[in-house]
Amino acid sequence: MTAGPCFGCGAIVPDVDGPTHPYIHSSAGCWKKFGEVQAQESRRFGYPPAHRLVVDAYAAQHPGDGSDRRDRQSVFVHLVALCAMLERGLAPASATRLLGTLVHLQGGFPRLERDSGPGDLTVLHMLDAPDYEGYERRAREWADAVWGSWAEHHETIRKALAAGG
Ligand SMILES: [Zn+2]
Repeated sequence: MTAGPCFGCGAIVPDVDGPTHPYIHSSAGCWKKFGEVQAQESRRFGYPPAHRLVVDAYAAQHPGDGSDRRDRQSVFVHLVALCAMLERGLAPASATRLLGTLVHLQGGFPRLERDSGPGDLTVLHMLDAPDYEGYERRAREWADAVWGSWAEHHETIRKALAAGG
């Protein structure tokens, strides 16, 4: 099977035909890998706290062009979640509750464009972690890399978080 880089995150993934998400923009091979990561996570660790970071990192690393409101909302909300957990140390469950308050952000969701690359780590970082501690550490490393790739919008996100939380 041939492989190539995902247009969203750059991960080298199998070149396959298959389903993708309507507003998380990845190649089909990358979406498949994300599915494998989630299946592995669920089988090995149930529904662990790191799940939230994994989902937020994946979604924030695969923005669309922002022309669809759902694209803008998805990237924005997942970045707020990353900010809440990484910078403010919120527990995943608290971050999830907080996001509920963001659905009605005044003025709608701005279009955020990523000037730098997608970050050094991808969903592939999450496969075959030695144990749950390693899985959580990898999730945090990946999430840090993704959050860092949106540096020019950190202030916007922090403000939204402060307003919502
Ligand atoms: Zn990807």
